[in-house]
Formats: sequence, structure tokens, C-alpha cells
Amino acid sequence: MTPKWIGLIAAVGVFGFWFLYTALADNPNAAAKQSDTDEKISVMILDGQMVFEGHRWAQTTPVMKAILQSCGRFKVDVVTSPQRGRPNAEFRPPFEKYDVIVINYEGDPWPVAVQEAFVEYMKNGGGLVVVHAADNAFAQWPQWNRMIGFGGWGGRDEKSGPMIWWQDGRVVKDDSPGPGGYHGQRADWPITIRDPNHPIMQGLPPVWMHCCDELYSRMRGPGENLHVLATGRQSPQQQGTGRDEICLLTVEYGRGRVFHTTLGHDTQAMSCVGFVVTFQRGTEWAASGKVTLTDVPDDFPTETKTSMRTIKTE
Ligand code: ZN
Repeated sequence: MTPKWIGLIAAVGVFGFWFLYTALADNPNAAAKQSDTDEKISVMILDGQMVFEGHRWAQTTPVMKAILQSCGRFKVDVVTSPQRGRPNAEFRPPFEKYDVIVINYEGDPWPVAVQEAFVEYMKNGGGLVVVHAADNAFAQWPQWNRMIGFGGWGGRDEKSGPMIWWQDGRVVKDDSPGPGGYHGQRADWPITIRDPNHPIMQGLPPVWMHCCDELYSRMRGPGENLHVLATGRQSPQQQGTGRDEICLLTVEYGRGRVFHTTLGHDTQAMSCVGFVVTFQRGTEWAASGKVTLTDVPDDFPTETKTSMRTIKTE
């Protein structure tokens, strides 16, 4: 073989190596990026029971499911607990199979094995979304109260922790005695963003009118590792406290992420576009620590106008 041929083969070899190297270096990354956004987040909505008949999980769960599935980012399964007062010893929701658990439940305590499995799931980096009356649940379960930051009703009082609200740009904790959990009239009231840089809040108007909902107030709990995203305010004319009540928050629990929305009393309140967008984004954030659902829809409410959407259920 002449030196010319050796040179040519070497050149082809070098080119081939470069081609393979760039192909391997670029394409797998591209494929990974593709699947990051293509792969759907798996959601379990855990529902059932509910003490107060105004909280109808059988109506709200299909709306929650439709809100999540409509944006194409989630695949949703529903797991329903045994009815109130019925034996639940065999109840074993498979938390570990899901990226995030949405709780639409209030009722009997879960069996100890389920509580332990849920704590384990969260400490190991699980995701939890707490919607409205779910924060009435499990007043006597300390780990749950840490996960949700604060809750109301269910016998909560000063022993459950201080009352927590927002004032002068910071969280206020008030140890004075009294029951936990209060709301004024169902009405429209403004929501003010307190952390516009958080991924769940990005691009949303600083103040928007939320439609026809209860504003949870006098909430009590440990309030550890709590991060305030937004507050709502109801005037005394609406039987509100006149204070800035925390209505959208996150909580860090072990390696797990919690998104807690006190909004969403019923299907009507859930059809507020402000609820829809923050519930979708909050669920994505609790599952992954990121928000890719960054579009702000044209029908988002404004500082002076509420905006509702018709949610089509299956
Ligand atoms: Zn309610």
C-alpha cells in the first residue's frame, strides 16, 4: 500500500470518527430533551369521603382531571378511598407509581401503613398537590400538617400551631387561641402575587380577580419551610378578615415538593382561569420542580375582571 492510500484511509477514518462522535454527542441529547417534554407526568387524584356536603369530590374530581388532561402534560388516574365509616384497612394507594399525588380527600384517617408509605414517598422526593378542603383533613396527623404548612377546621386550634397570614411583605404567625379555619362570603375577590419570580407565577398579572370562591382564613399549622406565592383579601363587607390571606403556597418536605392551593371550593370556583392555570402549573412543579406550561392564556382574569372557562369533563 502506498503512503497516498494510507493517508486517504486515515482521513476517511478521522472523518468517520468525527461523524460518529458528533452524531452520538448531539442526537442522544436532542432525544433526551424531546422525551423530557413529550413524556407525560403521571398524576394520581386521590379522592373520597368529605365531611361537609358542599365539598362534592364526585363532582370536582372529573373537573380537576379534565383541567390537567386538557393541557396535554399529564396522564391522570383516580383512586377513591372507601366510604366514610367503612373499613379501610385494605386501602393501599400505590403512591410510588406516580410523579405527583393530588389530594381531593377529607375524612377518616388513613391506615397507619398508608400514612407511613405516603411520608416515605414524600421524603424521597414525591410531589403533593393540596386543593381547598383537603387542608381540612387529618388535623391529628403531624406529618401531614408539616406537608401542607397550615390547615383549617377538623378540630384545629392553637395546639395545631399559630394562625398564619401575610402582612407587610412577610409571613405573620400569631399564637393567640381560637379555632383554626374561617371564610367569609362566597364572592369575587382579588389575588395578589407575592413571588412573581417563582416558576408557578411567571408572567401572570400581579393582581387578578378570582371568581366566586371562599377565601380560607385563620389557618393554623406548623408553617415550616413555607413559601408564599399569592394572597387573597376579602373586605369585612364580604365577612372577610380584611387581611392578606395566603392562598397559593409551596412547602418543602424532605426531598418532596408540595403545592397548596386553598382555592377551588366547587366546580364553579375551579372554572376560574386563574385556578386552572395555577393548578396546572402547580401540579407540574410539584411533580418535577419545573414549569414548562409558561403560556399565559388570553382569557386570564385581570385586575378588574373575573374570567371563567367551561371545563368539559369525560
Ligand atoms: Zn369550601
